[in-house]
Amino acid sequence: MIELIDRLMVRGRLEQKEISELLRFRKPETVEYLFEKARMVRAGNRRKAAEIWGRIPVSSYCKYNCKMCGLRRDNQFAKRYRMDEKTVLSCCMQYYRQGVRGFYLESGDDIALSEKNMAQLLLGIAERLENVKVVLAMGEKPLSAYAHWKQIGADGYVLYHGCANEQQFKKIYPSNMSPLLRKQCLWGLKEYGYQAGTGFLVGLPYQTMDDVAADICFIREFCPSIIDVGAFVPALHTPFERERSGNGEVVLQIIAIFRIMFPEAHIIADPTLDRVMQNGRFRALDAGADVLLVDALEGGWLEQYQVYERRTGRLSAPVDNVEQCREQLRMRGLSL
Ligand code: SF4
Repeated sequence: MIELIDRLMVRGRLEQKEISELLRFRKPETVEYLFEKARMVRAGNRRKAAEIWGRIPVSSYCKYNCKMCGLRRDNQFAKRYRMDEKTVLSCCMQYYRQGVRGFYLESGDDIALSEKNMAQLLLGIAERLENVKVVLAMGEKPLSAYAHWKQIGADGYVLYHGCANEQQFKKIYPSNMSPLLRKQCLWGLKEYGYQAGTGFLVGLPYQTMDDVAADICFIREFCPSIIDVGAFVPALHTPFERERSGNGEVVLQIIAIFRIMFPEAHIIADPTLDRVMQNGRFRALDAGADVLLVDALEGGWLEQYQVYERRTGRLSAPVDNVEQCREQLRMRGLSL
C-alpha cells in the first residue's frame, strides 16, 4: 500500500483498481502515511491558505425525490421554507460580522429560485459586501442562469455528479434525474469560468468500493476546483432511514487521495462528517482538506434544513463558534 501511495505522489493519479485496493486496506500506519503525504502536498502549495465558508441554507424545497435525502419532494414531514432576499443578506451579514468571507449558499433543487431571483440576490451581496466569495450549490439550472450568475458575482458552484456507475445511480436517484444532464451542467459551469465543484456521498446503500473508486476517477477526469465528499447519513422519513451511516474513515482517505491528485483544489471539510464521527470536520483538515464549512447562523435555520435529520434525533450539530474554528485551523498551521 505504501508503494501505491508513493506512486500516487509521483504520478498524481492512480487507476481505478489501485484506488479501490487502497481504500479497502485500512491499516492505521498506512492511512497515517497517506494523510501525512496529503498534508505535505497542502503545505507545499504556498499560494493557498485555509478558508472558512459559512453555510446558508437558502431553501428546503426540492423538485427531486432522491432516496437518501430528507429534503426529497415526497417527504411530507420536511419543514419547507424559502429565504427571501433580505433574509439571505442578513445571514451573509451575520457571517461577515464574524469575519467569515466565504458564503456557501445551498438549497434543494428549487424551481422557484429562478435566474432572476438569484441574480437580484447576488447583486445585493455584491453591493453591500466587498472581498467576499460566493459559492452556490443549488442544483441543476439552465446554462443561461449559470452564465448570468457568474457574470454578476458568483465565484463557485458545487453540483454532485451523483454516481459514476449508472446502475447505482438508478437505485438512488429518481428516474426523472439524468446523470447526463448533471454532467452537462458541470461542464457548463467550467466553461463559464466558475470554480466548478463536485463530489459524492460515501456509504450509500448498494454502493461498493469499486463504485467509490469509479466516482473518484470521474472526478479525476473532471478536474474540479472544489471537491466535497460527504458521508451518507440516514435521514428520517426517507426510504433509507434504517440504513447504516457511511464510514467517515473512508471519507478521510478519499480526501487525502484528492489532495494529492489536486494540490490546488479547495477540498471541503463537510459537516456530514461530524454526524458520523467525532470531530469529523477537523479530522478532514488533518487528511488534507482546506475549507472548513461552518454552520454558525442564529435563527434556527439549520434545524429546519433537515437533509440529515436522523431517526434517533439529529446528532448534535450546535451552531459553530467561528473563533474556535479559526483556532482549530491555526493549531494545524493553516493560515487564513
Ligand atoms: S439530494 Fe439534492 S436533488 Fe436530491 S432530493 Fe436532496 S436536495 Fe433534492
